Amino acid sequence: MTAGVVIVGAGQGGFQLAASLRQDGFDRPVTLIGEEPGLPYQRPPLSKAYMADGAGERLVLKPAAFFERAGIERLAGLRVTAIDRAARRVALSDGTQRDYVQLVLATGARNMRPPLPGLDAPGVLGLRTLADAARLRAALVLARAVVVIGGGFIGLEFAAMARQAGLGVTVIEAGERLMARAVTPASSDWFAALHRAMGTDVRLGCAATGVETDAAGRACAVTLADGGRVAGDLILVAAGVRPNVELAAEAGVSVDNGIVVDGCLRSSDPAIFALGDCAAFPLPGAGQVRFESVQAAVEHARHIARAITTGAETAFAMVPWFWSDQGKARLQIAGIAAGADAVQRVPQAAEGGFMALAWAGDRLAAVETVGLAAQHVAARRLIGAPRALIAAAGFDLRQALLAGAER
Ligand SMILES: Cc1cc2nc3c(=O)[nH]c(=O)nc-3n(C[C@H](O)[C@H](O)[C@H](O)COP(=O)(O)OP(=O)(O)OC[C@H]3O[C@@H](n4cnc5c(N)ncnc54)[C@H](O)[C@@H]3O)c2cc1C
Repeated sequence: MTAGVVIVGAGQGGFQLAASLRQDGFDRPVTLIGEEPGLPYQRPPLSKAYMADGAGERLVLKPAAFFERAGIERLAGLRVTAIDRAARRVALSDGTQRDYVQLVLATGARNMRPPLPGLDAPGVLGLRTLADAARLRAALVLARAVVVIGGGFIGLEFAAMARQAGLGVTVIEAGERLMARAVTPASSDWFAALHRAMGTDVRLGCAATGVETDAAGRACAVTLADGGRVAGDLILVAAGVRPNVELAAEAGVSVDNGIVVDGCLRSSDPAIFALGDCAAFPLPGAGQVRFESVQAAVEHARHIARAITTGAETAFAMVPWFWSDQGKARLQIAGIAAGADAVQRVPQAAEGGFMALAWAGDRLAAVETVGLAAQHVAARRLIGAPRALIAAAGFDLRQALLAGAER
């Protein structure tokens, strides 16, 4: 068989790349290899709608017939175990090999496991895959009290679902505020109030030290650094992720908090690209970054597909955006708040809504909204805009966009 593009990882980005290659007219072989069983699926609903409806089939990105029609070889339940860069060949867990002209690493990330005693006990779960979500959902039916270790997006989304299912929920966060890595203090405070209003016990500045087990060996409580304990029979560890870089590192490809890629998303080996959660890429104005978002995985994939199909060496660029559904609130973020030097709450945001603007000097760095979808859409086009433009529009981003267009 002639060699073409081999994609390692059949998640959001790997799937998108295979599909985009065919959309762009790439007519050489495409092989999509994923260690998870079944068809590629989307992860965001795992901590949201799936917890309520359990409808795993709705998460599938395309049916099997799509891959057959598109002439995409799909290998599921197989792991790529090694890359031979000199021979341009990968080894698979079933002992077979595949040759490539271009290799794309779309290996994603895995959950971090903090070094705490008791995390192996039954009743302690993580959430990354559909199989994890199915386990968690089944456990939710029998649970009485849930403890979530980690106040990031996934932990909070799950906490809201568990609370809506009528369970007692405690969120334990070691930092002083929720989602601190990704949002401004204004959003952290707004969401802490939201979860508390839902009846969740949100504990900030509170570090977990281990999991206690009962006489049957099942998890029954989380112990805390302040000497306290929180009882719970279902414990979700949602303490962040680590990029899957080992395959690249073992092949001698540069790695530094992700597989290091250049502006064209090529790794230190020009025949190997990387995308999505596993890729550390240069974003103009932000340095070398790694995003864990659907948008980054999809936009990286489209960019790489174009580069492979047309040979174009254009630089990748994006205005980052993200969403998180927690209870009835959808948080939407445009831009990057980290590095901003001022945060402004916009008081005239609609009833029940929320808007915070993050400024870097006199430029708009990020916008966080709840219940203001039109402002979010405008925000995506205003990141980097001068404060004067936005102030002149009374901090209404749609008006500011119109005013900017008229200039
Ligand atoms: C519960 C949950 C909720 C989320 N919610 C949101 C949200 O609301 N908004 C948002 O933007 N993002 C959200 N995300 C993040 C988003 O899903 C990821 O950023 C996105 O899936 C990244 O795509 P990817 O292709 O880089 O990695 P993934 O989709 O994780 O796919 C990587 C795949 O590679 C496979 N793999 C790894 N190593 C190998 C190997 N050696 N051989 C073969 N296969 C391999 C893995 O098994 C995996 O299937 C959420 C994630 C989770 C887990």
